[in-house]
Amino acid sequence: MLRIGIIGAGIGGLSAALALRQAGFEVDVYEQAPELTEVGGGINMAPNAVRVLHRLGLGPALDRVGVRPRETHQRRWQDGRTLQRAPLNPLCEQLYGAPHMTIHRRDLVAVIASGLASERVHLGHRLAGFADRGDTVEAWFDNGARISVDVLVGADGIHSTVRARLFGDEAPAFAGCVAYRGLVPVERIADLGLDHGNQSWVGPGAHLVHYFVSRGGLLNFVGWTEHDTWNREDWTDRATIDRALAAFAGWHEQVRRIVAAAETCFIWALFDRDPLPRWSAGRTTLLGDACHPMYPFMGQGAAQAIEDGATLAACLAAGGSAVAASLQRYERLRIPRVSTLQAISRANKQRFHMPDGPAQQARDAEWSRAGDRAPDTLRWLYGHDPAALEPSPG
Ligand SMILES: Cc1cc2nc3c(=O)[nH]c(=O)nc-3n(C[C@H](O)[C@H](O)[C@H](O)COP(=O)(O)OP(=O)(O)OC[C@H]3O[C@@H](n4cnc5c(N)ncnc54)[C@H](O)[C@@H]3O)c2cc1C
Repeated sequence: MLRIGIIGAGIGGLSAALALRQAGFEVDVYEQAPELTEVGGGINMAPNAVRVLHRLGLGPALDRVGVRPRETHQRRWQDGRTLQRAPLNPLCEQLYGAPHMTIHRRDLVAVIASGLASERVHLGHRLAGFADRGDTVEAWFDNGARISVDVLVGADGIHSTVRARLFGDEAPAFAGCVAYRGLVPVERIADLGLDHGNQSWVGPGAHLVHYFVSRGGLLNFVGWTEHDTWNREDWTDRATIDRALAAFAGWHEQVRRIVAAAETCFIWALFDRDPLPRWSAGRTTLLGDACHPMYPFMGQGAAQAIEDGATLAACLAAGGSAVAASLQRYERLRIPRVSTLQAISRANKQRFHMPDGPAQQARDAEWSRAGDRAPDTLRWLYGHDPAALEPSPG
């Protein structure tokens, strides 16, 4: 039985640990933080990811904390006019065997971690280095601990140490966007009579998304604005609500009411990397943001990390002791799909943030004619089975 060490207990590392455990491997997760946490409020879990989580036995636990939005509704920044609208649930379950869900990140991490024995998640372990010894990988941590495993998986996020050791230590690039992220107790905005769905508002140089989390008790919003440079000292990470309101001055009253009612508001700078041609070397590989960070403008970063884990487990299960070949197969299956999503997500920044004018009018006409959010148009994305070991149709 292979012994697998995963570095990083984010959504990607934890769900990969569960998939690998389910495939019969001995798995341990090493996390630098002293406790399991997730920054930020909510996250969209598209059906392609929820289906994997269901297979890991997490369906009932997800339903206890998550929300199944009825629809997605895209609107214009100033007058609230509908640009496109599409049903999400129960349609996604009918089409793809799993719902689209919105969920508090903290709840999602707790649900995934609940599937693992707690002694398998080693907190306070910050990876310092590792070396491939041919038939094992040795890794060592800042706290003095050392491990020897058959496979090492770097699920250690955009600033990945594992990636830096394998492929070089380039800093990620600022993506020209910062987000205001807030949570609103729903009783503060009850008079808005919001539908039980996701809404996104697009305007010149900015867009704002809101959806319910925590069984509908909180509304999560993320408002993106464009900036040339990012300097943490100038911004500080805790934004004021006034600053967020100033960034969305002139926007529809509903947007401003939601921002003004926030209980907490954080600012988040977006960073990015170009797609990697390789993820693996010998017995070591990468998954999630460690190898494919993407703009969150398709809502697929964590979903793809979850898919990575399912494919990795299936490849290692099929490959027996030929670990390096299994890792090559894993990256061959995954890189084309995530590279496509990285490109679409980047293009969406321009599409969502167009200045008002002829190009924006053409975009709006296209959206109202064809849409691009309807679940039935996203079969290549939502219908893909990452454990089937077949190339993605997208
Ligand atoms: C504003 C915003 C909105 C988003 N919305 C969505 C969405 O709706 N849907 C979606 O699917 N995705 C979304 N994403 C993307 C998603 O959040 C990420 O893709 C996902 O969380 C990445 O998970 P990960 O496990 O790969 O990395 P991370 O969550 O970054 O986890 C990495 C873990 O590794 C640990 N670590 C790092 N270095 C070390 C070390 N040396 N030793 C030990 N541990 C280490 C870290 O502490 C961390 O716990 C969004 C992103 C942003 C910024």
